[in-house]
Amino acid sequence: MSTPHGPDAASGPGPRRRARRWWIAAIVAVLVAAGAVVAGVLEHRAWVGTVATYEAEVARVTEDAATSRARAEEAYAASRDALDDAVDGGRPVLAGSEGQVGDPAVRAPLAAALDQAERLRDAEVTYPVSTRTVEEVTRPNLFRPQTLPRVEAEVVDGSDPAPAELHAAAAAVTAATAVVVEARQEWALEELQAAATEGRDALTELRPQVGAATLGELDAAVTDAEAMTDAGADALDPDDAVALRDTLLDTTETLWTDRLDQIVADRRRAARADGVDCREDRCVALTFDDGPVAETQRLLRILERKDAPATFFMVGDNVAARPEIARAVVDGGHLVGNHTWNHPQLTTLDDGEVRDEIRRTQDAVTDATGSTPFLLRPPYGDVDGRVRSLATRTGLDVVLWSLDTRDWESRDAREIRRRVRAEVEPGSNILLHDIHATSVDAVPKIIADLRKENYVLVTADLLVGPDEP
Ligand SMILES: [Zn+2]
Repeated sequence: MSTPHGPDAASGPGPRRRARRWWIAAIVAVLVAAGAVVAGVLEHRAWVGTVATYEAEVARVTEDAATSRARAEEAYAASRDALDDAVDGGRPVLAGSEGQVGDPAVRAPLAAALDQAERLRDAEVTYPVSTRTVEEVTRPNLFRPQTLPRVEAEVVDGSDPAPAELHAAAAAVTAATAVVVEARQEWALEELQAAATEGRDALTELRPQVGAATLGELDAAVTDAEAMTDAGADALDPDDAVALRDTLLDTTETLWTDRLDQIVADRRRAARADGVDCREDRCVALTFDDGPVAETQRLLRILERKDAPATFFMVGDNVAARPEIARAVVDGGHLVGNHTWNHPQLTTLDDGEVRDEIRRTQDAVTDATGSTPFLLRPPYGDVDGRVRSLATRTGLDVVLWSLDTRDWESRDAREIRRRVRAEVEPGSNILLHDIHATSVDAVPKIIADLRKENYVLVTADLLVGPDEP
């Protein structure tokens, strides 16, 4: 540039300054350009990441939409199978354990769990559906704006009822089943032990009477039962144990039935040899219950004077208190029967209690008299099939009465005598109680009355029932 003021030109920037400015401008320009490049690279990288996330989400939603129903159905089917298995395992255990588990409360949770499981199993299954969304994404880039669209898909969320619910119900059934199985094993073990004890007792008592050959089956069953009980409840198959118990009880009952028939047949044969045959004679039996007591001794003197046999159904507790009177009864030629230990209603007791009532009395009478009863008169005449079987398996025939003098009610010797005269007939089994003095008072005249009518006094086992040969 040229100016009229030449020297002024000399006062402007010199060539060195101009060069420096140019350099600064160049450096700034380079820095700005570099910054722009870096920003561009970073923005691109972020976008690439966003796209990757978006695509992964879309892929997952699409995959779920395609497969979630099949997965839900599969999970439901698996839980349903588990529930079916648990119910199939539990139902027979519940049914089979009826009456076999002491405490009914043990079975209640299994019944409840099975009901709940079956309700779930029978419920119609549904597969709820929900909508899953991948939101729209936009690229805030001035030069290259981009938009990734919103994506929606229907996805199955599982099942109703849920597999977890079915699995929980199955687990509850399985747990309750195990409790009942264990209780049933323990019950079966006790049953088997009790039956084995009865069998062992029968072996001990019968061996000297009938010989070993007859007892082979019972002996084998007792041995099997001991092996089974020794293995413990855990190893026990309740069905096997119950079958063996029944074999033991049936075998014991059959052996004793045969033996009792034999005892009575022998005694009837011996009586015939002495000239008494109740198939032809007008036999009657005087029977006295509830002793022995002090009054029994007076009765024994009367019977001895009259040379009259009688039958005494003794209470074990009284025998233990007065063993010498029990002994005197046997020594007097009379028959002693079992009237339980302390006079309960036997049908109201459980098996173990009935056995205890009978067996303690057997032992007390045997200890006191050396003679073991083979007749049981249940107190109050209270008896059923169960008590009868228990008595038989303990070596006792049940004998009731046919003529009730009601002596305990009237306490009047004349009234007692009147009843006997009015009601007696051949085969009468006459019920009296030697614990009442009035009953003992009535005996001399009763005997005189009976003999006047040609009745023959016998022990109760010799009476022949109407349908006996
Ligand atoms: Zn009685």
